[in-house]
Amino acid sequence: MNLPDLTAHELSKLIAAQEVSAREVAEALFERIAQLEDRVQSYLLLMRDKALEQADAADRKIAHGEPVGPLVGIPLALKDLLATRGFTTTCASKMLENWIPPYNATVVEKCAAAGMVFLGKTNMDEFAMGSSTENSAFKITHNPWDLERVPGGSSGGSAAAVAAGEAIIALGSDTGGSIRQPASLCGCVGLKPTYGRVSRYGLVAYASSLDQIGPLTKDVRDCALIMNVIAGRDPLDATSADLPVPDYTAHLNGEVQDLRAGVVTELLGTGIAPEVKDCVLAAVKQLENLGITCEEVSLPHSEYALPVYYIIAPAECSSNLARFDGVRYGYRADPPYKNVVDLFSRTRAEGFGREVRLRIMLGTYALSAGYYDAYYLKALKVRTLIKQDLDRAFQRFDFLVSPTSPVLPFKIGERADDQMAMKLADICTIPINIAGIPALSLPCGFAQGLPVGMQLMGRPFEEQTLLRAAHAFEQSTDYHTRRAPL
Ligand code: GLN
Repeated sequence: MNLPDLTAHELSKLIAAQEVSAREVAEALFERIAQLEDRVQSYLLLMRDKALEQADAADRKIAHGEPVGPLVGIPLALKDLLATRGFTTTCASKMLENWIPPYNATVVEKCAAAGMVFLGKTNMDEFAMGSSTENSAFKITHNPWDLERVPGGSSGGSAAAVAAGEAIIALGSDTGGSIRQPASLCGCVGLKPTYGRVSRYGLVAYASSLDQIGPLTKDVRDCALIMNVIAGRDPLDATSADLPVPDYTAHLNGEVQDLRAGVVTELLGTGIAPEVKDCVLAAVKQLENLGITCEEVSLPHSEYALPVYYIIAPAECSSNLARFDGVRYGYRADPPYKNVVDLFSRTRAEGFGREVRLRIMLGTYALSAGYYDAYYLKALKVRTLIKQDLDRAFQRFDFLVSPTSPVLPFKIGERADDQMAMKLADICTIPINIAGIPALSLPCGFAQGLPVGMQLMGRPFEEQTLLRAAHAFEQSTDYHTRRAPL
């Protein structure tokens, strides 16, 4: 039995029956990491001592017959922009290379309370800006399905860790696709929950009107299990919604014949690679075989999502990242300084990487007097139009379908210098963040030995519908059972 290749729900049964201990599971994971990490490079920090302490605590509870949840003893990887008390939280930036938060993100607290075991912090694009994890200041993560290719980004370390069996579950964040696109490229399930569904307290902010935390898992049931842990109102995050949280596992096996799916015309047109399109259309056939009614639907404003995003996200990031000034946090340029402005500008020029500097400048420009109305205000208006397209679609359909990534995982270095090609990686995922709705990516086929992901998009706070449809599809295929050939 290869413990790192099992799902959380499979491990959970073994742990509950005391057939394996949480410590054995944790040790098996660190063994796997030792075997593969040279090649995959998912992690920026390993938390072995902490993990074994948590695993032993889980084993003691089980031995004493104390009540435990289904994720007790399950190993978890955390994207390195989630604050962890006593452990570096770098955002893969030189700016925060040595920053050790004095507090935990709410999701970290919740996972600890559920008895999960923290393996470490995963690599990412610096401050979550990118689609390939090549923007990390520290290392390049490799796709476990083909080590010459990118794992996607920005949560590329989280996705690669799950795909390589270096983690059972991982948490990521998604501002324009950063959970779903790497999930797609690494053959995982990834969910961006509704804006407000999961607390963002302790998530280092990129673009606050778009950011959400969510899981990357090996299958849909694991995704539902971890959502049960992390979802819900948090008094520490005023943007978290005060709405009841359903049991996400309760309806996984429910009927799907009553569901209606809209297949988004614009997201199967120009820019979508033929092999991706073929896989997704075959998957739509499979949804029909399951009794789901599928029809085409148009989202006429979706072509504006990318330009709107590249006004709004940089605008918000220029404001959020203003706090990194060399005085309060992280990196500080060496003295002497001519004056305080010299301290600020040298610190920021040296501490931030190229992509982050580019976005800050774009955002500052878009918000500057004279341009605010022409760019930022106009982007907000088009944002409303994009949202209205989706609202209209959801009057007819329970969920929508598209590819997650328009292309197969690309080669490391292939797009690094092509700004436009890199940014097009998110054409299918960005409209979802703009509208604040939930979307899930799941494996829907393979082309050239590489995984292809399908995106299911839902009404606000109806993650359970996406999970039910995704589970039905998954159980009728075997894509989720395949493991990367390492
Ligand atoms: N790739 C997009 C960007 O670079 C989205 C990143 C994200 O979701 N954090 O902004």
